[in-house]
Amino acid sequence: MRRKKIAVLGATGSIGTSTLAVLRDLQEEYEVYALSAHRNMALFAEQIREFAPKAAAVTDEQCAKDFRAEGVELFAGEKGLIQICDGADLVILGVVGVAGLPVFEHCLRSGIPVALATKEAMVYGGRLARDLMEQTGTPVLPLDSELSAIFQCLKGNEMCPPEEILLTASGGPFRTWPLERIQQATLEQALRHPNWSMGAKITIDSATMANKGLEIMETRWMFDIAPEKITVVVHPESIVHSAVRFADNSVMAQLGVPDMKLPIAYALGHPGRRKNSVEKLDFFQIGALHFEQPDLKKFPCLALAMQATRGDGSAQMIFNASNDVAVELFRTGAITFWQISEVISQAMDHFAGVRAKSFDEIYGINERIKAYVRQRHLPQAGK
Ligand code: NDP
Ligand code: MG
Repeated sequence: MRRKKIAVLGATGSIGTSTLAVLRDLQEEYEVYALSAHRNMALFAEQIREFAPKAAAVTDEQCAKDFRAEGVELFAGEKGLIQICDGADLVILGVVGVAGLPVFEHCLRSGIPVALATKEAMVYGGRLARDLMEQTGTPVLPLDSELSAIFQCLKGNEMCPPEEILLTASGGPFRTWPLERIQQATLEQALRHPNWSMGAKITIDSATMANKGLEIMETRWMFDIAPEKITVVVHPESIVHSAVRFADNSVMAQLGVPDMKLPIAYALGHPGRRKNSVEKLDFFQIGALHFEQPDLKKFPCLALAMQATRGDGSAQMIFNASNDVAVELFRTGAITFWQISEVISQAMDHFAGVRAKSFDEIYGINERIKAYVRQRHLPQAGK
C-alpha cells in the first residue's frame, strides 16, 4: 500500500509534537514526508533522526545557516516552508501566527489538502481565504478541537444549513475568579490552563478568552457562517468540543476527552476513523457537564473579538495583530494582564477603516499595526 505523505509544519510546537505522536503509531499508513521548525534546533534534529523525512525547513534564517542534518534535503526561511509542501498528500499546518498564511495560500492554490491548526490563517485571510477555498476546492480540514467538532457535526447534514453554532469554551484558569482578582493576574497564573496542554501564546489567549474570540472568526470563515449565528458557551469540563443546532432544533455535538490527538487523528484518518491511543470517554466518571454564559465584563477580549467579527473582516486582523503584540508585552512584563484588552481596544479604534484587498496587502498592514502597538506601549522599541 502506498503510504500517505504528510508534511508537519511547526513540528517542534505543541500541535507538531502531538501530530508526530499520533503518526508514530501509524507509520505503516503514513510517511512523515517533510518537517519544519523555527528555532528549536535541538528537538528538530531529534525529530529528523527519528522520522527521517525527505525534506526539512528551518524558517528562522539565522538558525537555518547553522543547522546541519544527514540524509534530508534542507530548506530555509519562509520560502522553505512553502517548498517542502510540494509533493505532500496532506499538510498539517501548526505554525503559530501570520507566518502560516502564505503557506496556506500556496497549498490552496496548488490543491494540496491542509489540516489547519493555525487559526491566524483564517483570522487574517478572512473573506479572501474563504473565497480562495471555494474557487480552488482544495480540501481543508480543521484541527482546532472546536472546529473539528463543528465539521464532524455538519457531516451528513450538508442539505441542512445550521441555525446556530454552539462554540464551547473552557473559560480558562480565571473563569471563577472575581473581576478584581483577574485584574491582578500574573503571567504564571495565566499560563496554568485547567484542561488543555498547549503552546504559551494560545494558553494566555485562553486566559483572556481572546482564543475563543479568534475561534469565532475562524468558525465564521471556515464554515461561512454569519457571526450572529455563533454562540459562545462556557463549558468548564471541555468534554463537549462544540455543537450545531439545526432548523428542527435538533442539536448535534461531538464529545471526547480534551486531547488534541483526537482532532489530529480525525483529520489524518478522514473520511474514515482509525484506532488511536486517546483515552476513552467515561460518562460515569464524568457524572455531570456544566454550561454557562460568558461574562464579557471579566473577559473584555472576547467582547472585542465579537465586535471585530461583526465588521467586514479587516477588524479581525487588527484584533489579532494587536493581541499578538499585547501578549508579547505581557510575557516580557511591559504591560499587565488586564492591559491586554486595553491595547487591543485602542488599536481597533486607531486602525478602524483599514482594509486589505489582497493577500499581499495583509502583511504590510499587519506590520504597521504591530509596529504602532509596540511603539505606543514600549516607546524604546522604535528607537
Ligand atoms: P507552539 O508555540 O507550541 O508552536 C509553534 C510552532 O511554530 C513551533 O514549531 C515553532 O517553531 C513554529 N514557529 C514559530 N514562529 C514561526 C515562524 N515565524 N515561522 C514558522 N514557524 C514558526 O504553538 P502551538 O502548537 O500551541 O500552536 C500552533 C498553532 O495552532 C497556533 O496558531 C494555535 O492557535 C493553533 N492551535 C493550537 C492548539 C494547541 O493545542 N496547541 C489548539 C488549536 C489551535 P520553534 O518551536 O522551533 O521555534
Ligand atoms: Mg480550540
